[in-house]
Amino acid sequence: MDSRVLDSPVQDIKGIGPQRARAFEKIGIKSIRDAFYYLPFRYEDRTSLSNISSLVPGDHLTVRGRIISSDIRYFKDRRGGRLRRFELTVGDGSGSLRAVWFNQPYLSRLFRVGQEVILSGRLQTDGRPAPGLEMPHPEFEVISDGRDSFIHVGRVVPVYRVTEGITQRQFRKIMFEIVGSFASEVVDPMPPELISKLDLSGLGESLAELHFPSDRAFLGPLNSKSSRYHRRLYFDDLFYLELGMGKIKKNSTDSKGISFVCRGGLKNRFLDTLPYRLTGAQQKVVGEIMSDMSKSVPMQRLIQGDVGCGKTVVAFIAVLNAIECGYQAVLMAPTEVLAEQHFLTIRELSAELGIEIELLTGSNKKRRLDLIESGTIDLVIGTHALLQESVRFRRLGFVVIDEQHKFGVRQRALLRGKGVNPDVLVMTATPIPRSLALTIFADLDCSVIDELPPGRTPARTLLFESGQKTEIFGILKDEVAMGRQAYIVYPAIEESEDTDLKTAVKGKEIFEKIFPEYTFGLLHGKMPASEKEHVMALFKKKEIDILISTTVIEVGLDVPNASVMIVVHAERFGLAQLHQLRGRIGRGPGSSFCLLVIYEPVGEDARRRLEIIVKSSDGFRIAEEDLDIRGPGDFFGARQAGLPDMRVVDMLKDIEMIKTARKEAEALMERDPELRRSPLLRQSVSAFWSGKTELFKTG
Ligand code: ADP
Ligand code: MG
Repeated sequence: MDSRVLDSPVQDIKGIGPQRARAFEKIGIKSIRDAFYYLPFRYEDRTSLSNISSLVPGDHLTVRGRIISSDIRYFKDRRGGRLRRFELTVGDGSGSLRAVWFNQPYLSRLFRVGQEVILSGRLQTDGRPAPGLEMPHPEFEVISDGRDSFIHVGRVVPVYRVTEGITQRQFRKIMFEIVGSFASEVVDPMPPELISKLDLSGLGESLAELHFPSDRAFLGPLNSKSSRYHRRLYFDDLFYLELGMGKIKKNSTDSKGISFVCRGGLKNRFLDTLPYRLTGAQQKVVGEIMSDMSKSVPMQRLIQGDVGCGKTVVAFIAVLNAIECGYQAVLMAPTEVLAEQHFLTIRELSAELGIEIELLTGSNKKRRLDLIESGTIDLVIGTHALLQESVRFRRLGFVVIDEQHKFGVRQRALLRGKGVNPDVLVMTATPIPRSLALTIFADLDCSVIDELPPGRTPARTLLFESGQKTEIFGILKDEVAMGRQAYIVYPAIEESEDTDLKTAVKGKEIFEKIFPEYTFGLLHGKMPASEKEHVMALFKKKEIDILISTTVIEVGLDVPNASVMIVVHAERFGLAQLHQLRGRIGRGPGSSFCLLVIYEPVGEDARRRLEIIVKSSDGFRIAEEDLDIRGPGDFFGARQAGLPDMRVVDMLKDIEMIKTARKEAEALMERDPELRRSPLLRQSVSAFWSGKTELFKTG
């Protein structure tokens, strides 16, 4: 859309004063363009309304008629309270029905006998001695003035989500005017070849049809948001997304990076001291990374792999390669616990290698920034704190980002900016459904570690009600008595006024009384980093038998001797979270148990989550199911990853369309990387990405 008119405020439109403008703004509409993209959430077929006499109870339907009478009745409810029932008798010449509302006194003021109304709702028989038809709590519209009724009846009618300050009918009328006056101003930025190749509907036409459908044949697809007009808008979003991703990738690979070529002595010395052999999948991925690193195009690679598949060691091998070639490296993790854990692991792994490693987190005060800047430190491990301006490197050549989806495109760019086109390796242990990965990581090459180190036995996952203490404690006791360790995970740290949740602090007190013979530790996000580090170290050294914690252990904590995890209030946790938590056990030989304990009545979604997690240990399957339950908008995804908001969500399930969008975006970028031949498109893509990243140099 090019036209400036579309950017003018809705207030310019007749019928929208300051008060209505505020109502519009409340639902996110400031400009005429915004209004176009504010789609109806439902459509109603009012092409031909049925005679009341022919209606059948049980159906959801719409009728039009005149108000014959209105009435207020009072009832006693079961507890003796007074119920107010407002009734409207509406007739259309063929028959009549009653619309009824309980306890909504203001309604009686809205209607007058003789007015024409449209009612839509579910029809039922009223159960009185001479049964009539009744429609409880229908949606309604008063046709006060017949002049504009062609907008509201006799067609497929859009139903919008409106807010206080404007009625459905007023809103629809304004939309009708906007669409009528401005749809012709909508200029389609999509290259015409693509429109015909992919058989897309035009943008102006699509928007107009989405608001005021011209044909009732579209009713079904419109209501399921799968009409060709919806698909056109989905495609726009995906195409702009992919073009932006393609441009980001191009901007970084166009620049000359570092070609890491050296003898590999450090790396080999490390592999010689490693107490295990890399799995086939790890070797394959190490090979892919080494090949990338040797090229002068900056690497942008993602390693995906389920919890426990051994990504850390793979990343570390790449880091060693960079260090040997004379560069500094940095590893950024999303939480302090995880950063500290990486620090401890890597310090241990590299004890013999003589490299300088530094931990840099928000709460770690003894920073040696000067040594980082002078190049003495080879590897800096840390959190967001790494992004601060005061952190400068002498020769940063290699960037590793763990749990990539917790950071945005922008943060990745910031970190990369501390070096001169360093190679970037990002890792994620949260398996991402393919459709989502294709979009949110579209600018990365992807490696998958799809094999667990040998000798792992997946944890047995069992579901308990909170009352089954004997069984739960039995398993806990058996394992700890054998010298294994346990986690007990709580959804909250401390008691508070507004929750009845079981908490970690209280839980520790209780468990210490039940099992005085065991040692306990407490780990949660509010503890100072030094204390957390201390507790983790004690747990690793087996000086703590049972670690009581919150979800801070979700990512990373690696103690192979731990064989039991009890999740308190399991119904409260998300699927991905449960999978991550469970990944803390089953990391060594021998069996292990994940006990999910339910404390509250479980809703349908929670039940589904728990069933899946009990049944499956495959992270990718779990992620697909998670996406299915939560929907893409809610999935950890797009927003956190720093991507533009999708104007029309719920598209991420359509892998075919994503693939098409990607293919076409790549092809177009290949032909015309700056989109010089499609200025309108370039402008739309920039606008789509605005506030996120600058895609094109100027104009
Ligand atoms: P991830 O980060 O992928 O969840 P980690 O890198 O933390 O997994 O590795 C999990 C555990 O597996 C660590 O204890 C690590 O030492 C061990 N490990 C990694 N690779 C292998 C391997 N090839 N053989 C045996 N153990 C391995
Ligand atoms: Mg890890």
